[in-house]
Amino acid sequence: MDRDIARPRGGVDYPRSAGEFRSWFGADEACLDYLDWLRWPAGFVCPACGGSGGWRVGDGRYKCSGCGRRTAVTAGTLFDRRRTPLTVWFEVCWEFATAKDGVSALSVQRTLEIGSYKTAWSMLHRLRRVLRRPGREKLSGRVEVDETYIGGHEEGLAGGRARGKKSLVAVAIESAEGRGLRAVSDAGDPRRIRRDS
Ligand SMILES: [Zn+2]
Repeated sequence: MDRDIARPRGGVDYPRSAGEFRSWFGADEACLDYLDWLRWPAGFVCPACGGSGGWRVGDGRYKCSGCGRRTAVTAGTLFDRRRTPLTVWFEVCWEFATAKDGVSALSVQRTLEIGSYKTAWSMLHRLRRVLRRPGREKLSGRVEVDETYIGGHEEGLAGGRARGKKSLVAVAIESAEGRGLRAVSDAGDPRRIRRDS
């Protein structure tokens, strides 16, 4: 499906409400499918060789039909090597993005029934570390929607445009004048995508 990262559509590209969120992301499999779709909208692309053929194997990773390497959609992202289920991770992201007064490890632990405070704390810490980059301007105005995206390109590869692994991107829509989208990549490269509206 065509997807323009500069023009995400509510209800299509991201859930608009807590109810929609729950119906979309009730199982890890559904979260994985969503990440697949964000990261490889036109189908799997191997981060090792750039080849575009592959299939999902038993462990949920993709196997490249060119070089044979297996890649998890979460590789190089916030969700890499997680011990907590993706459904819980997604909920933490949702809480983080939508809580009006910010989130604390304690509130996350209580709301999401995460067993230990330490786990809740380290999840928030990881999330904040990815989202906060030096030089990034703070969002201003009334922030309508925050969300995380995975996709984009990896720098330093031949051609510079190969789809890569380090690609967690956070996108936020502001409702102030001069609406814009801001994307912050995991690779520490703050970018701003203007929206024409
Ligand atoms: Zn490959």
